[in-house]
Amino acid sequence: MKRAVSKKCSKTSEAEEEEEEHLNSGLLHCAHLVLPWLTSLELASISLSCKFLNATSKSITLRRILDASRSLEKIPIPFHNPIDDRPYAFFLYTPTVIISNHHFERQCWGSISDFQSSHVESESMNLVDDWVSGVFGCDCENCGDFEFQCSCSSLDGLVDVASECGPRCSCGLECENRLTQRGISVRLKILRDEKKGWGLFADELIQEGTFVCEYAGELLTTREARKRQKIYDAHAKGGRFASSLLVVREHLPSGNACLRMNIDATWIGNVARFINHSCDGGNLATRLVRSTGVMLPRLCFYASRSISKDEELTFSYGDIRLKHEGLKCFCGSSCCLGTLPSENT
Ligand SMILES: [Zn+2]
Ligand SMILES: [Zn+2]
Ligand SMILES: [Zn+2]
Repeated sequence: MKRAVSKKCSKTSEAEEEEEEHLNSGLLHCAHLVLPWLTSLELASISLSCKFLNATSKSITLRRILDASRSLEKIPIPFHNPIDDRPYAFFLYTPTVIISNHHFERQCWGSISDFQSSHVESESMNLVDDWVSGVFGCDCENCGDFEFQCSCSSLDGLVDVASECGPRCSCGLECENRLTQRGISVRLKILRDEKKGWGLFADELIQEGTFVCEYAGELLTTREARKRQKIYDAHAKGGRFASSLLVVREHLPSGNACLRMNIDATWIGNVARFINHSCDGGNLATRLVRSTGVMLPRLCFYASRSISKDEELTFSYGDIRLKHEGLKCFCGSSCCLGTLPSENT
């Protein structure tokens, strides 16, 4: 490969030149097809191999910076890093929770035709919404009709669980009772801070009550979550490794039962993995949203007050601090407790 690119012979016939040109365009095409499937580390090392691959990986890096979501969200979510030379954070993107899947290892990111390729990928994901129970949905023609309230829509004040229409309802994605199923609809960006690392910021004014995003990632069994947490804790001691494993506990109305969800966004997730903790509770409220007939709810973030452009999005990770040498908190709020919340998983 190297030979073909760097070859600059003095006496080449026209036919040879033509052949070389042909070969180069073929290589270029191959590089543009293959390189977007590489991780950031692989891409960095291959870019050192020759000038030609260096240029290709640079253009891929630029496209990756422009959209963390790999075209899987409607609006691109760019990275901005004014403090060091890390152009972006590498992780696999899923717009919603997926079942832990060891076969999902590669995803195209930064190719010229990003949309088509990543679209195919998302279809092969193991989405939680595919786990549908025997419950049938509504057959409203228009769930948003003022005349009546759709049977799917309800808000349980006790546990703050909202219900939306589900996969077996006759309405489509445009239904007013599927607000959180249409993906991220506000402009966001990911900024790097010297102390906190990456953080998620508003890139436009977000009105109080607006749905921002859900917490997407791999859904793990509690056993797997405990196993991974041990590994993450060991890594965290050594350096700047940050895991994004979230445990959600929903207490059922009966009182003693509790639904537990372990969502790990460390390797596969959406931009919610960048939301930092704030000891004052932050500007995002969480709510569990259940689609009719779907067994597991999704954890959704809403603006708990009006959030101005360029303001960082934060929420409270919890109040319990069990680990003595917990990670430092840099939230900057007046009530900061100094360490990040930690619990035994
Ligand atoms: Zn509906
Ligand atoms: Zn419905
Ligand atoms: Zn704090």
